Amino acid sequence: MIPYGRQSISEEDIEAVVTVLRSDFLTQGPVVGQFEKKLAEKISASYVVAVNSATSALHLACLALGVAKGDLVWTSAISFVASANAPKYCGADVDFVDVDPGTSNISIGSLRDKLETAYVSGDRLPKVLIPVHMAGHPCDMKEIFELSKQFGFSIIEDASHALGSTYLDTLTGSCAFSDITVFSFHPVKMITTGEGGACSTNNAEIAAKLQRLRSHGITRTPTEMISRTEGEWYYEQLDLGFNYRLTDIQAALGLSQLSKLSEFIAQRTIVSERYHVELSGHALQLPISFSDRCSSLHLFVVRTTDETGLERRRLFETLRSEGILVNVHYLPIYRQPFYANLGLYNPKDFPGAESYYSTCLSLPIFPGLTEVDQDRVVDVLGKPLGHQTIF
Ligand SMILES: *Cc1c(COP(=O)(O)O)cnc(C)c1O
Repeated sequence: MIPYGRQSISEEDIEAVVTVLRSDFLTQGPVVGQFEKKLAEKISASYVVAVNSATSALHLACLALGVAKGDLVWTSAISFVASANAPKYCGADVDFVDVDPGTSNISIGSLRDKLETAYVSGDRLPKVLIPVHMAGHPCDMKEIFELSKQFGFSIIEDASHALGSTYLDTLTGSCAFSDITVFSFHPVKMITTGEGGACSTNNAEIAAKLQRLRSHGITRTPTEMISRTEGEWYYEQLDLGFNYRLTDIQAALGLSQLSKLSEFIAQRTIVSERYHVELSGHALQLPISFSDRCSSLHLFVVRTTDETGLERRRLFETLRSEGILVNVHYLPIYRQPFYANLGLYNPKDFPGAESYYSTCLSLPIFPGLTEVDQDRVVDVLGKPLGHQTIF
């Protein structure tokens, strides 16, 4: 079996975890702080707040920006459902922006049109936009940032795929064009902590809010308290928070994994370059790259030329029957029954997402994918396609 993605765990990772198991702290303790500090350095952010998943990170990010009932949040039509679920947890209404089928990232043209249409017709504008860096390929953040100033919304980058990517000489997570950036440390993502996630921000107030919300809304910082502290035992609950804490066990794994991030990306780059060479003669559209940004290469998504979806199904089934666990990232969120049943969304409004969805296929890419296994993927994929040139 060859999965589309998987973790890469070394002996050092295992030792780091075992060291914590022998220590005094298992839940959030000193190692979580070390992990946050190291990640903040790595991505050039002022603050990092680690939590138990990217889903939790997205939820807290929405709360920290004040998202509540009656608010509107927009996200990308193509993403994992968590990008849309997080604002729903806050009671907000969610709408989707169409994607550019070439990158599967938010289309700036669609975003501008949707904002202008809402503005002109006096409809609600989004309070927050959640752009998603699909497959690790950074969105057009400069244009999104400019529109946020014009139309007055905040930005949460969903960088679950994109730790280690760069855009216009900025590191993803440095929040050069956003209020908060969110990462995932699920095993298929760029680095793993088992389950885990984080928010980065340059805003001290947002960081303090995120820290409180991940631990029941409680503060132990006297300057944040409403009353005067009554002693060492005293703490105050200021908001309705959660237990979204990461453990020191997980943070130790994360810290060890983080030291290998550039090596992981180098290995993904080799896999990607080999696919580009080996698949160049086939009737497939390969991932596109831009000179002003560098993808973390979380996914390697090829697209068929047939928009009916039949060709993609044929390839998917052929590869799966050979034990190659290709995948589809993702069904447009508005097609998920939970969202479709709201009766608010019409697939016709999302031609980019529909076109992308009917043609996309994620091939295996991860550090540790062997050349032998990759050659098998290329061989099995090549047979039903034949060697034809499209351009
Ligand atoms: C994986 C993923 C998430 C959720 O991450 P978890 O850490 O599993 O909660 C959110 N958004 C996107 C785009 C993802 O790929």
